[in-house]
Amino acid sequence: MKTIKITPRGYCHGVVNAINTITNLDHLSMKFPVYILGMVIHNKQMVNSLENLGYITLHDPTKTRLELLDLIDSGTVIFTAHGVSPDVYKKAKLKGLEIIDTTCDDVFKSQDVIKNYLEKEYDVIYIGKHSHPESEAAKGISDKIHIIENINNLETLNIENKKIVITNQTTMSIYDVFNISEKAKLVYPNIEFINEICDATRIRQEAISNIPSEVDHVYVVGDKLSNNSRKLVQVASEQSNVSSSLIESITDIDIKELSNYSCVAVSSGASTPTKVTSEVIKFLELFDKNDKSTHDITSKLTIKNLLTKKALPK
Ligand code: SF4
Repeated sequence: MKTIKITPRGYCHGVVNAINTITNLDHLSMKFPVYILGMVIHNKQMVNSLENLGYITLHDPTKTRLELLDLIDSGTVIFTAHGVSPDVYKKAKLKGLEIIDTTCDDVFKSQDVIKNYLEKEYDVIYIGKHSHPESEAAKGISDKIHIIENINNLETLNIENKKIVITNQTTMSIYDVFNISEKAKLVYPNIEFINEICDATRIRQEAISNIPSEVDHVYVVGDKLSNNSRKLVQVASEQSNVSSSLIESITDIDIKELSNYSCVAVSSGASTPTKVTSEVIKFLELFDKNDKSTHDITSKLTIKNLLTKKALPK
């Protein structure tokens, strides 16, 4: 099968930093047990690999980061690349936990933008997903932050402050953010717009916006919980006008569907392990609809060969 590998794809610098920080911790000087507050990155395979090494992931979509902290009484807590609110930081300190903070530089930068505008007494409209930890961290900075997920949510706001800025979660669609900010300018003529889509998200979305016309389908390899992966699927469909789907690994590939295509393209989210994407690419390249021996979608990857690092001492 002709398979076009879209570049850039896969891990961003924020994810690489988070994983390297965690897997290179000095075990001799640490407090145990070691908890990760939320999924380290939105990828179940990586979470399972870290669990296998002894890291305890606290993940419950019904609980905020602040509530998850109630489950920890001692040891070390790791904050993920998505960042945390000032209250989470304070509470962890008060509990006497050792803190390892892997918040991405780009998330810190977007939080600084918000804080600067709050100091100047602005209200902040923040385009992000309500349930996403990065939005939760931003929202926790002040009650002057108004989260909206889409253009319709603008109508639910009633901000009287004349000083307003609109900004966004780093992993939203560049096209959605532009459209929402344009609409916001009509509703609030004085509004200022600070685009905080990170470079990693932007260049991956731009790459998937220009798919060659010979491509029948785009596979985005990524976890269903990964916002940037889901946005890549959306951007491919909307901007390149080609069908696109999110797959977590080769096991999600539908052989019947694939047999209808002559050329496919592959991208992956910023939190997708390279080995998972490489396995998908290799499978697609070898795929021949007339040769059944190339139709086996069993993954050879295990939690052990995904992250070959030293386990935490028991
Ligand atoms: S997607 Fe962007 S903001 Fe998020 S971790 Fe990667 S580089 Fe940082």
